[in-house]
Amino acid sequence: MTTTELLDQLRANLGDDGVLTEPGDVAPYVADWTGALVGATTAVVRPANTDGVAAAVRLCGEAGVAVVPQGGNTGLVGGAVPDASGTQVVLSLGRMRRIRYVDPVADTITVEAGAVLHAVQAAATAAGRLFPLSLGSEGSCTIGGNISTNAGGTAVLRYGMMRDLVLGLEVVLPDGQVWEGLRPLRKDNTGYDLKQLFIGAEGTLGVVTAAVLRLLPATPRRATALVALPSVDSAVRLLPVLRERAGGRLTAWELLNRQTLELVVAHVPGARDPFRTPHNWYGLVELAGSADDELDTLLESALGAAVAADLVLEAVVASGPTQRRSLWALREGISEVQKVEGASIKHDVTLPIAALPKFVAQMAPRLDSVLPGLRLVTYGHVGDGNLHYNLSAPVSDDAALHAAAPELTRSVYDAVTGAGGSISAEHGIGVLKRDAAAALKSEVENELMRAVKRALDPRGLMNPGKVVPPDSASLLVTD
Ligand SMILES: Cc1cc2nc3c(=O)[nH]c(=O)nc-3n(C[C@H](O)[C@H](O)[C@H](O)COP(=O)(O)OP(=O)(O)OC[C@H]3O[C@@H](n4cnc5c(N)ncnc54)[C@H](O)[C@@H]3O)c2cc1C
Repeated sequence: MTTTELLDQLRANLGDDGVLTEPGDVAPYVADWTGALVGATTAVVRPANTDGVAAAVRLCGEAGVAVVPQGGNTGLVGGAVPDASGTQVVLSLGRMRRIRYVDPVADTITVEAGAVLHAVQAAATAAGRLFPLSLGSEGSCTIGGNISTNAGGTAVLRYGMMRDLVLGLEVVLPDGQVWEGLRPLRKDNTGYDLKQLFIGAEGTLGVVTAAVLRLLPATPRRATALVALPSVDSAVRLLPVLRERAGGRLTAWELLNRQTLELVVAHVPGARDPFRTPHNWYGLVELAGSADDELDTLLESALGAAVAADLVLEAVVASGPTQRRSLWALREGISEVQKVEGASIKHDVTLPIAALPKFVAQMAPRLDSVLPGLRLVTYGHVGDGNLHYNLSAPVSDDAALHAAAPELTRSVYDAVTGAGGSISAEHGIGVLKRDAAAALKSEVENELMRAVKRALDPRGLMNPGKVVPPDSASLLVTD
């Protein structure tokens, strides 16, 4: 099938507005969120339903054309954008946004994959329930993308990652068949748990078209504080104190360094440092609970104990929703402001929590010796052992950062793996971390990954080149 024939058939199945080919129309779909990766595409297809996705995948398969699934395109590892060949088709789920069904008795919500996370949270709230996944990109990222990256965010400490919130999936397989696994069951021990294969697969095994997700009890009450910390060690030691005092109500325990706070205050309109004196480290803690919970009292008593134990230097407890939002803005504005400050290298690493203080202490001098003036933008979900250990270029010297990038990243990854950590906590592998991740896995683990890929996508047409390094023997397109 020629490209013209493929486009004609795609239009016949999806309608003219379901197939974009004009350069101006496809431009937003071929560049990633950071703007650093820009690919090219034959077409962007935008099916309106599962049958349309199945038809598009089948037709591309018949033409031997690779498909790149895309949700909100907020991924940070280049997984959702096509390569530069111009031969791949982007399959956007942007028109499949329906909230199909909320079941307040079974505590489930059934949604299409293109539904934006914020809309799903709002639908859960409207039903008096909570969908707890919460990310800085929640106004743009989609449920399909959240599932495919096994997204984390700021409430993992209490509710787990996306994997913990998925009960059932509907998936279009690489040959165009639909796997109907949209079951709301909490218990289903009938063999391999197939949905787990697609969660975190970054679109390399099929296209997620719909999901049944868990809902939880609403948490209308919140108590939030920003605390100044003497060290990362105190952040780690504070976690059991907070857990002991607040129990299951502890929802977020986030960390940021001074450099990060300064960037946010400099660039986010209205953001301000609530403390009179600067500190090296800050923690953002949040408790959430029911209308009856006395959360302010709980939080104040936990922080009082922390001050007495010299784990906290000073604290600002939010006096209401407006102050709560302004404290969270200091944390959530970080990704955007790093863009404004020039080039940066993003490391999304996870370590055993107890290893965080040593990691942070040893990395600063090590990296400064590689590139003096490097700015360490360190923040993350300390309660999960997950740091966004980002490196911003010395002021006005992006070129120096680019030149030093391989050595800087090698240093970070060596320290992370040496401490028993992982080089990808929540952002996934995509194309940016593919080779580094493969190099760190055992041959047994790499071959298992390739075997799964071969079993589901023998022709290597589903998001090729992402997550699993191409295996020339098995991923050859044969027609
Ligand atoms: C400001 C900001 C803050 C962020 N904060 C966090 C955070 O706290 N935690 C976190 O985990 N991530 C975070 N991210 C990263 C990103 O938002 C998440 O990875 C998110 O889950 C991606 O969703 P998306 O819809 O944008 O997916 P996309 O970027 O479109 O795609 C991501 C991957 O999933 C695949 N994919 C997308 N949809 C489907 C589908 N329906 N079927 C099969 N494959 C699909 C793509 O091919 C790609 O490989 C942040 C990003 C930004 C820009």
